[in-house]
Parts: sequence; C-alpha cells; structure tokens
Amino acid sequence: MEGIVGGIHTATLLGSQVMGLYYGGYRYGYGSGYLSYLVFILPALLLGIYAQSKVQHTFKKYNKISNSRRMTGEQMARMVLDRNGLTNVRIEHISGELTDHYDPRDNVIRLSTPVYNSTSIGAIGVAAHEAGHAVQHAENYAPIKLRNAILPACNFGSSIGPVLIMIGFLFAGNLFGRSLFFVGIVLFSLVALFQLVTLPVELDASSRALKVIRDSGMFVKEDLTGSKKVLKAAALTYVAALVTSVMQILYYVTRFRGRDCK
Ligand SMILES: [Zn+2]
Repeated sequence: MEGIVGGIHTATLLGSQVMGLYYGGYRYGYGSGYLSYLVFILPALLLGIYAQSKVQHTFKKYNKISNSRRMTGEQMARMVLDRNGLTNVRIEHISGELTDHYDPRDNVIRLSTPVYNSTSIGAIGVAAHEAGHAVQHAENYAPIKLRNAILPACNFGSSIGPVLIMIGFLFAGNLFGRSLFFVGIVLFSLVALFQLVTLPVELDASSRALKVIRDSGMFVKEDLTGSKKVLKAAALTYVAALVTSVMQILYYVTRFRGRDCK
C-alpha cells in the first residue's frame, strides 16, 4: 500500500528473478546452480505467491462485508487525520485497485475505488492505514525519514545492480568481472535495505490505524478483527519481498562463487 511513493517496483524484482533463472540454469548448465536455485529462489517465490494469494483472498472477503457504522474509507481517513490534528491533509479519489497511498509532496491521501466510497471493513482498514502514513510524516517518524533518504540510492541500485551482476557473470573468470559483480551485489543489496526499512514503516502505520479504530469506540469487534486481518495480509507481502531480495542476493553469490572455482 505504498504505490507511487514506494518507488521500487515488483517488475524489477521479477526481472531479476528471470535473470537468475537464466544464469543459474541455461547459460551454465544445470549443476549446483539448479540446486541453489531450488534452495534459495524457490522458497522465496512460493512465499511471494502465498502472500499475494492471501492478500487477494483477504481483501476480497472483507471488501464485501460492511462495517457496523457504514463509514466510508474517505470518512475513516478523515477521522484519523482530524483526530491527529491533520485537518490540512486532503483526501482524493484515485482509479485502480490497491493504488491507495499517501503522497507527502502534495500532502494528500489518494484512495482507490474499492476504498474511497466503500463502507466495507477492508476499506476502513486501508484508509486508516494510509492516514497513518500521513501522521508518521507529520510526526517526523524516524524510519520513514530514513526510508525517504535512501530511496534515490535504492532506485539506482535496483536498476543498475542487476545489470552489473549480469556482466559480472559473463566475465566471472577475471578481476574485471569479479569487481563488477561485487559492486552489483552491493547496489542490489540496497533494495533489500529499502525493504527492511519499509517493514517498521508499514507495521507502524497499521498499528496507528487499528488504534484509532479501536479507541474511537465506534466499531464492533468484527470490524476491528477484519481490519487487522486485511492489514496483516498486506504486511506479509512486504516480508515476502524482503525475503525474495535476500534470497536472490545469496543465490547470486553462491552461483558466482561456484563459477569462480571452476
Ligand atoms: Zn503503507
């Protein structure tokens, strides 16, 4: 639930996963590469698929159940903002699904169609979570400041890192290749660092959201439990992304070391 602001996209990660397949298998033959692929990449891929299906299933379920107050996502976000003295933060509607995010540049929360006008349990959970991000910015919450500070370097690392790793593999036998590979791994590790810093940011936004829902005293237990499940499922996708990156790094290093010894 970071959308535009998050920066690093799944496409990059998927791209490098395909790249990993190519260099792990086809190019150098199925030997230890195939085994390390099974050990490192496959579990991460399965966790990613599980997290995605879990989030889809949970959202689908709680987007259908109305909350007891029949409060819309927009009203919920407004409530969280107002209770934190953020009457200056605007709320807008944005097209698409799961595109909800807080944009600190324009100081606006953008809520997607299934959230903005919906009175579902899922809608109030997501809306309150995004408002939680706005509160983090207003309070200068340290992890979000750190995350924004490292974002440009991480975006650079996610686009250049895989290219250097790839060239490094082509020249694995000499110092040039080894150097490129090393720099590539360091740059690509920035992606994992970004995802690591994202975790406390996301978990904190969710706990702020659930606190308002609970403390308002306006909702029944089912509303709170449902919102919690939705936000927990969303958090799992961030964990899966981090695990995938770390496993990819380990996989590349293992493969490269394997090349080096031959
Ligand atoms: Zn978020």
